[in-house]
Amino acid sequence: MIATVDFKITKAKTSKLASLDVNNIPFGKYFTDHMFEANYQNGEWQTGEIKPYQPIMIDPSCAAIHYGQSIFEGIKAYKNEEGEAYIFRPEDNFKRFNISAERMEMPEVPEEIFMEGLKQLVKLDQDWIPNKPDHSLYIRPFMFATDEAIGVKPGLKYKFIIILSPTGPYYSAPMRIYVEEKYVRAVHGGVGYTKNAGNYGASMYATAEAKRKGYDQVLWTDAVEHKYVQECGTMNVFFIIGNKAITPPLEDTILAGVTRDSVIQLIRDMGMEVEERPLSIDEIMEAYKKNELKELFGTGTAATISMIKELSYRDTVMIFDTDNWAIAPEIGRKMNAIKEGKTEDKYGWMVKI
Ligand SMILES: *Cc1c(COP(=O)(O)O)cnc(C)c1O
Repeated sequence: MIATVDFKITKAKTSKLASLDVNNIPFGKYFTDHMFEANYQNGEWQTGEIKPYQPIMIDPSCAAIHYGQSIFEGIKAYKNEEGEAYIFRPEDNFKRFNISAERMEMPEVPEEIFMEGLKQLVKLDQDWIPNKPDHSLYIRPFMFATDEAIGVKPGLKYKFIIILSPTGPYYSAPMRIYVEEKYVRAVHGGVGYTKNAGNYGASMYATAEAKRKGYDQVLWTDAVEHKYVQECGTMNVFFIIGNKAITPPLEDTILAGVTRDSVIQLIRDMGMEVEERPLSIDEIMEAYKKNELKELFGTGTAATISMIKELSYRDTVMIFDTDNWAIAPEIGRKMNAIKEGKTEDKYGWMVKI
């Protein structure tokens, strides 16, 4: 355990909670009453503070806007039936945040700032975690360079901020997916394994092109041969082929999803083998033709599991009857039961605040 840190806490004079319609909460639209902020300057982190949610003042020359030193995380907090608040695997996000920071030549955020800031903020705003099935509080930690000067070099000043957004059931309808062979998300030696803002900006054109063709998302392939599958949009991807689950291995082109890791453990505990290995689109096509490709789905914090009902590769359209799937829905149920405290958390994933 880390020592409790005394952050300066300024409470909001009034709460916006009463104006929240808990029956209609679009993802990422509403924010709670407070935010956490810590600043880095002169080579060290200043004491963090919790204050009313408010705009931030930045100079037009703000380095992150011009040169992209900007990273983030996505975490969720839940309430169990007794109304106690828990955060899902925040330590994993903390570690991943600093992996992103290192690659982007940004300072690491100390554990007592990240974890204690997170816990104290969620505790203060815990009434915002809707106490309803499938509801949660999305937690968005982020950091960016704030230097007031134009010039391509690593920043000397940074802001680390955490904001919270209540979310309703994030139903993700089974998706139609386009196998992308022209644009790439990540290359070896690149930044694909980090949650840096530029990765998402760089993916938007390809995703929009796929949408213009009538698809929901792209399935990214490797940048060299366009042969091996990587991720589905901003989700990791799993294929159930025969009696095995296969997901691409963690390399510098793959974001190490916390949901991916959780799903691997759940599948193994269901008695099914999981292979983390390169998977080519040819192997997927072969399996489909032989009727061995049973299920395919994306995994991520926002939707947990997103089933894929259609996969288009060149002239081939692979169609799947997601209504009759067994594994993806079962994993979804198991994950939800753990997150909502309805089943024993034998993995130690839920951190009480
Ligand atoms: C965030 C993200 C994921 C999913 O990670 P989780 O920790 O499961 O939310 C997968 N791929 C990309 C590119 C991502 O940004």
